[in-house]
Amino acid sequence: MYFIANWKMYGDLKSLKSLDKVIKFANYHKRKKIMIIYCPPYTLLHSFQNKIKKTKIFLGAQNCHAELSDGPFTGSISPKMLKRIGSKYVIIGHSENRFEGETDLQINKKIKSCIKCGLNVIFCIGETHSQKKKKITSQILKNQITTGLKKIKFSNKIIIAYEPVWSIGTGLIPKLYELDKNVNFIKKVLKKNLKIKNPKVLYGGSVNPKNVKNLRSIAGIDGFLVGGASQKANNFIDIVKKTII
Ligand code: PEP
Repeated sequence: MYFIANWKMYGDLKSLKSLDKVIKFANYHKRKKIMIIYCPPYTLLHSFQNKIKKTKIFLGAQNCHAELSDGPFTGSISPKMLKRIGSKYVIIGHSENRFEGETDLQINKKIKSCIKCGLNVIFCIGETHSQKKKKITSQILKNQITTGLKKIKFSNKIIIAYEPVWSIGTGLIPKLYELDKNVNFIKKVLKKNLKIKNPKVLYGGSVNPKNVKNLRSIAGIDGFLVGGASQKANNFIDIVKKTII
């Protein structure tokens, strides 16, 4: 099971302290099959890496430029830079970036560069509220998957995070039967259209210690991408505990 902490645009050096508890917890449960990945803002990647390098926790970034290597792109960070700093993972296609104008084509280029560079990709997909109301969720998900992963030799380096846009940061989660249906649909598309044998699909959107047991009951879910609730160590640990114990 994957547990990915997305700190979004929050956190400073003082917030690193909250990692102590999580490191202790991860060490204690090192024999369990859990993957804890922290995705702090760029400004904290280096300090995070120093703190977690000898632990069971992995480092990830929240985005990157589509260009593989260094270049004249003011304000951007390349996949190679992330690799050099110790990142193993990178979130691509988060709805908060799509909202800022990131297109499926750019997402596809970013994923290609990240894979070339040896990074693992957490590829976010999900429908908006109006798309859900129009009952075109399956069509949207299929489109996002096939355009985002076009001409990419899919490997176990890509993990899908299904995040309904209307669920992110709202406290709302899908009905369990809907979630089950959508996760199965995503896995079906990955298996049938992209010939992936054992695709990994995570759920993200308002996951918290109270709702995680219910969400966990969906058999096809391979873990969670957690935003708000990952910023407090106790909440994040609780989410992991309630999933694995
Ligand atoms: C996210 O940032 O991907 C996310 C799911 O946020 P939240 O858990 O706060 O809804």
